[in-house]
Amino acid sequence: MKKHNFNAGPSILPREVIEDTAKAILDFNGSGLSLMEISHRAKDFQPVVDEAVALFKELLHIPEGYSVLFLGGGASLQFCMVPYNFLEKKAAYLNTGTWAKKALKEAKGLGQTIEVATSADANFTYIPKDYTIPDDVDYFHITTNNTIFGTELKKDLDVHVPMVADMSSDILSRPVDVSKYICIYGGAQKNLAPAGVTFVIVKNDAVGKVSRYIPTMLNYQTHIDGGSMFNTPPVVPIYAALLTLRWIKAQGGVEAMERRAIERADMLYAEIDSNKLFQGTAVKEDRSRMNICFVMAPEYKELEADFLKFATDNGMVGIKGHRSVGGFRASCYNAMPKESVQALIDCMQAFEAMH
Ligand SMILES: *Cc1c(COP(=O)(O)O)cnc(C)c1O
Repeated sequence: MKKHNFNAGPSILPREVIEDTAKAILDFNGSGLSLMEISHRAKDFQPVVDEAVALFKELLHIPEGYSVLFLGGGASLQFCMVPYNFLEKKAAYLNTGTWAKKALKEAKGLGQTIEVATSADANFTYIPKDYTIPDDVDYFHITTNNTIFGTELKKDLDVHVPMVADMSSDILSRPVDVSKYICIYGGAQKNLAPAGVTFVIVKNDAVGKVSRYIPTMLNYQTHIDGGSMFNTPPVVPIYAALLTLRWIKAQGGVEAMERRAIERADMLYAEIDSNKLFQGTAVKEDRSRMNICFVMAPEYKELEADFLKFATDNGMVGIKGHRSVGGFRASCYNAMPKESVQALIDCMQAFEAMH
């Protein structure tokens, strides 16, 4: 039976990216060697990094003066690299969920931190709108898509201070005005590549302004100077990221990714809102296009396990909700075909007809 992959991360990738990565693992560029057994300094690997950087810049219209880095450590290491590199006195954080909270925690030991607002009072079902950011902060940190709670900032905010954003789970799903940010980062394993590589878009002249000693590997300058090759980068995931970036370009770029994301989300939320068995968890205006969270309506609560089994038996994979929300989460990243969303909707309708 066809599997429909709604995993939250690591997650769905374009089929051709997986196939072409598999080919390169067997024989990279006709060299007779595997991508896994060549040096990252080999002559034909450098063009992989160069093209991946160039495509990232092209697809997101990244202005001059920014570097694109491919590092290890995951988004979680960025939670600490960001304050190490940018927090001199004071930083502001918007607490919209589990990942935002973890980012804030890492900044706490390194300077004054201000949680400008939180939606913890409502289990992060919305994104706070009314808050004040002090003028004198070094940066304002946001999590654009809250993977666990299914809320998303779908437009760049208008604020008067430089922003830093965790875009782990919505990178390349919409156009971004990069000039508003000094740093955008994320684990690649949701929208871009297999686990193991972290992308960082960093404004060059924002680096080097703090007075603390920064350990070499945590210093963005190290990786800007080394072109992501200061030490051995994750070669295979970077190659897969390059193939995904090529795929996005061939599909029409981030503008096309956004159109598809809107289409998928509109389809699935319409079903959630009209099907008597289900209801959404996030407030409508903040609903994520990437992670679509829903639960059983209160009067059908006892059917939760039955629906999970029914959907699983029909090929749905990874739709169980995160334990902090419960219910279901359908993650619909860039590579998610509309047909899979339709298959889930068909399941929901068939299950409704049975009850
Ligand atoms: C998955 C995720 C993370 C954690 O990423 P790691 O690469 O596992 O450290 C951080 N932030 C967001 C928004 C995520 O979705």
